[in-house]
Amino acid sequence: SDGDDDEPELTSEQRELEEKIKAEEARVRSIEETRKSLPVYKYRDELIAAVKKYPILIVVGETGSGKTTQLPQYLYEAGFSGKQKLKIGCTQPRRVAATAVASRVADEVGTRLGDRVGYSVRFDDKTTDNTVIKYMTDGMLLREFMSDPELLSYSVMMVDEAHERSLHTDILLGLLKEVSAERPDFRILISSATMNAEKFSTYFDEAPIFNIPGRRFPVTIHYTLQPEANYLHAATTTVFQIHLSQKGPGGILVFLTGQDEIETMAENLRSTCERLSGQMDREMIVCPIYANLPSEKQQLIFAPTGKNSRKVVLATNIAETSLTIDGISFVIDSGFVKEDRFSPTTGMQSLSVVPCSRAAADQRAGRAGRTGPGKCFRLYTKWAFLHEMPESPAPEILRANLAGVVLQMLSLGITDLIHFDFLDPPSPESLIKALEQLYALGALNEKGELTRVGRKMTDLPCDPMLAKCLVTAGDLGCCRDVVSIVAMLEESGSIEGGRSKKKAADNGPSNGGSSDPSASSGNISAMEKFRSRAKARLGGDHLTLLEIWNQFVDSGFSPQWCRDNNLQYRALNRARSVRNQLEKLCERLALESEEKGLDELDEDDKDRMRVRIMKAIASGFFANAAKLGRSGDSYRTLKKNQTVWIHPSSALFKMKPPPKMVIYNELVLTSKEFMRNCMPISAKWLEEYAPHYYKSTEPERGS
Ligand code: ADP
Ligand code: MG
Repeated sequence: SDGDDDEPELTSEQRELEEKIKAEEARVRSIEETRKSLPVYKYRDELIAAVKKYPILIVVGETGSGKTTQLPQYLYEAGFSGKQKLKIGCTQPRRVAATAVASRVADEVGTRLGDRVGYSVRFDDKTTDNTVIKYMTDGMLLREFMSDPELLSYSVMMVDEAHERSLHTDILLGLLKEVSAERPDFRILISSATMNAEKFSTYFDEAPIFNIPGRRFPVTIHYTLQPEANYLHAATTTVFQIHLSQKGPGGILVFLTGQDEIETMAENLRSTCERLSGQMDREMIVCPIYANLPSEKQQLIFAPTGKNSRKVVLATNIAETSLTIDGISFVIDSGFVKEDRFSPTTGMQSLSVVPCSRAAADQRAGRAGRTGPGKCFRLYTKWAFLHEMPESPAPEILRANLAGVVLQMLSLGITDLIHFDFLDPPSPESLIKALEQLYALGALNEKGELTRVGRKMTDLPCDPMLAKCLVTAGDLGCCRDVVSIVAMLEESGSIEGGRSKKKAADNGPSNGGSSDPSASSGNISAMEKFRSRAKARLGGDHLTLLEIWNQFVDSGFSPQWCRDNNLQYRALNRARSVRNQLEKLCERLALESEEKGLDELDEDDKDRMRVRIMKAIASGFFANAAKLGRSGDSYRTLKKNQTVWIHPSSALFKMKPPPKMVIYNELVLTSKEFMRNCMPISAKWLEEYAPHYYKSTEPERGS
C-alpha cells in the first residue's frame, strides 16, 4: 500500500537529518575542545581583566598559542562590542593571514564569513553592518583612518604580528597612540611573537606586557656541511629522504621564497611521487601556500591528513608566525626570503632574494616542535648561519620606498613628518626622497601641500605611480583602458599558465646552472602570440596586458578560453574584480567619462588612443626610464645610470631593433637587474610629464 512505500523514505530522511545534527554537534564539540586546548585559554579571564584595566596592552606568546584566533573572540564574548555593536578589529601584515584567520574564526563563532566575522583586504571586502569581529590588513586600516580618523566604529584594535615590523604596522602604531590619547575608552592590543616586546612597551609609555607561556618541544637542528648550490633541488631531496626513512605521519614544512619556486617544487615532488609510488608506504600530500593562492586552496593546508599519508607544506615566510599548521614534525629551511628593498640614494626599488635573519630561522625551526620533538634541516652551513645572516630582520620602514605612506600621512594632515612619533624613525633622506617623488608626480606643490592630483591619488588604493597613471588617464580620456592595464598589472605575475619561459628568470640566486634565463625554453604559449602582436605595434607589455584583457572580456570571461590560451583563469578573474572596484573609484573621482575603449575604435583613432594610453602610463613611471646602452642589449637607467636588462618575459625581450628608451614597472634582481613589464617611450614624453625631474639629466632627444 501507499503507507508502506512512504515509510522507508521518511526514515531515510529522518536518518539523514539525525546524522546532520550529530555531525554538527560533533563539529561544535571539536571546535570547543580545540579552543579550550590552546595555551591562551587558561589566561582568558586574566586577559579580559587586563584589557579592561589597561588602555594599551602588549601580548606576547609563541606562535600557535591562540592569540590571533582567540583574543578577538574573548573580547567579543566579554561584551567589548557593547550595545552600539562597535567592532573589534585585528590587523595582519599579510593578506593571506587576514582571510584565512577570518574564515577559521567565522567557523568557530558559527557564523557565515562576512556576517558577524569578516575581513577586509585590498580589493576584497567581506564585511557587512553585522560584522563585529573584523580582520584586515594593516594597509586597509591605514586607509580607514582617512574616513574615520578616531576609529569611532571600533572599541578595540589588536595590532597583530607587530614583531614583523611591516611598514603599515609601524605607521599604525603612531596613529593608534594618538587615538588612545583622544579616546580613554578605546583599547589597543599589540600582539607579537616572542621578540621585541620590551621595545613596544617602552614606546607605549611602559604599557604592561602579558606573557602567554607556550609549550615547545625540543627541535634538533641539522646544517649542511657544504653550501648548497641549489636549494630547491636540495629541499626536494631532503623531503624524499624524510618521507622514505621516517616512520609516522609527521608533516614536513618547507620554507621557500615565492610562488614560482613553490609551484616548481610542487610539480617536482608530484612527478617524483608518481615514479616512486611503488616504494612509498604512505601517500604524500603536497600543499603550497603563498600570498596569491586562492582562498579555497589556502584552506587545504589546514585539512587533517589520514594516518597513511604525510602532508608536505611548501610555504613562504607566511608560515613563520602568521599561520600555524598543525602536525608538523620536520622543517626544511632554505634560509632565504624575498624582500622589497629601496635605496634612497639611487631611488631604485628592487625585489630580491636575500638571506633571512637568524631570528626568522629560529622561528622557522620552532614550527617543528609544536606537537612533539621535531627536526629542522637547514639547507645552509652553520658558518653561514653565524656569519652571513643578520641577527634580526630590518624593519620595513628602514628599507622601503615611503612615497605611498607619506602621501597617506599628508592626507591625514600629518605634515611634520620628521617629528612624527615613529617606533624607528626612517632616515631623513628616505623621507625627502619620498617627498621628491610625490612632487615629481605632481601630488605636492612647492610648499609640500597636496595638489588636486595628489588628493585624487590618495583616494586610489594603489601605489602612487599607478595612481598617477589613472589620474592622467582621466585627463587624457583613456581611463577605461588604463584601469584595465592597472588591474592586469596587479596580477601580471600569475596570468601566464603552466610551464613557460618566464619562470627561468624568476628563480632565486641559488638556482645554479644557466645564468642566462633566456637559455631555458618552453612551449610557445598564447602569451607569446599576444606578445608578438603587441611587439608589432610597439606597445610593450602594458598594451599586451590590455589586449589579453579585452579578449578575455570578448570571450565572456570564459575559463575555456583561458585554458585554450594557456592563461590562468583565476588570475584573470581576480583582475576582473580589481578592475570593477577601481572603475567604481574612478567614476567617483570623475576620472572616467563616456569615452570609448581601444577595442571599440576604428584603426586611425586606435593609434591616437594607444599613444594616449602610453602617455598616461609614462606620466606615472617616468622615474623608471632607461635608455638603450651602446652594446645594444642592456639598458641604463636615466637617473642613476645603472645597468638593467629587459626581463625575458617581456614583449620587448630581444626585439629587433630594440627600443631606444623604455620605462619599466618593477626591477627584479636575480642573476641580473631585470626590468619587468616594460613599455617603449619617446624621450619627448619625459619632457612633457617630468620636466623638473629630468632637467639635470638632459635626456637624449630620440625618435
Ligand atoms: P597565534 O596567533 O598565537 O599564533 P592562532 O590563533 O593563529 O595562534 O592559532 C591557534 C590555532 O588555531 C592553531 O592550532 C592553528 O593551527 C589553528 N588555526 C588557525 N587558523 C586556522 C584555519 N584557517 N583552519 C584550521 N585551523 C586553524
Ligand atoms: Mg597569530
